[in-house]
Amino acid sequence: TRKYLLGGNWKANGTVASCEKIIAEFNGAGPIPANAEAVVGVPFIHIPICLQSLRSDVEIAAQNCSLTGTGAYTGETCASQLKDMGVTWVILGHSERREGFGMAGEDSELVAKKTKMALSEGLKVMICIGEKKEEREAGTTMDVCAEQLKPCAEILSKEDWANVSIAYEPVWAIGTGLTATPEMAQETHANIRQWVADNVGADVAAAVRIQYGGSMKGANAEGLLAQPDIDGGLIGGASLTLDFFNCINAVP
Ligand code: 13P
Repeated sequence: TRKYLLGGNWKANGTVASCEKIIAEFNGAGPIPANAEAVVGVPFIHIPICLQSLRSDVEIAAQNCSLTGTGAYTGETCASQLKDMGVTWVILGHSERREGFGMAGEDSELVAKKTKMALSEGLKVMICIGEKKEEREAGTTMDVCAEQLKPCAEILSKEDWANVSIAYEPVWAIGTGLTATPEMAQETHANIRQWVADNVGADVAAAVRIQYGGSMKGANAEGLLAQPDIDGGLIGGASLTLDFFNCINAVP
C-alpha cells in the first residue's frame, strides 16, 4: 500500500513575517495521520527559516534545482547544496516552469535530466505533468502526460523510481478554482499508472505515488483522496494557509 503524500507548493509567495506566521500555525496543527507524509515546497530563500522552525514531520522541498553541479553557474542552486542544507525533496517540471513566464520554458528532456541529477544527489523528486485546457478538449490528455514522462522513463533506473512521485496537475485546474472532478482525476491517474506499468514496469507502477494538483483544498480533498489511484495532492494556494492541514487530514 502506498503512503499518501501531501505536498504544498508555496510558489514565489511570502515574506519572512508571513513564513513565521504560517510555520507557527502548522506547528500548532494536530498530528499528521500515520498513513500520510507531508512536505512543503518553499522559496529557496525561505528554506533556512523552515528548516529551523517548522515541525520536523513536515519535510522541506525546493521548487527547482540546477541541471548543473556546483561551480561557475551564477544564480543556480544545486541539488547537492539543497541536500547539504537538509532539504529532502524537490518539485521539478511544474507547469509554470515549463511555460517559462517570459523566459525559455523547461522541456521534458530537461526535467528528466534535472530529476536524474536530484536523485543522484539523494533528493526525492515530485515530477509534475499535466495537460492544458485545449489538450483536454482535444482528447489528448494522456498523450501529453506520456510525452512528458517519456524522457524520465528512458533515463531513470528502477531504484530511481523509488524516490519519485508523479504530480498530475491539469494546467486548467491550477489557480483557477476549477478542480478536476474525482472521477475525471481518477481516470487520468489510472491511465498514468498503466503507462508506467507498460513503459517502466508493473512493480514501479504499483509502488509509485501519483498526487493530484489543481485547486485542491480542504473542501474537495476528501473526494479526490478517496479515489484508488490518487495517492495525495500537490497543493498551491491552500498550502499557504492552515487549510493545508485539512487536506492532510482528509486522507482515508
Ligand atoms: P493551486 O492549488 O493554487 O491551484 O496550485 C496547484 C499547483 O500548481 C501546485 O503545484
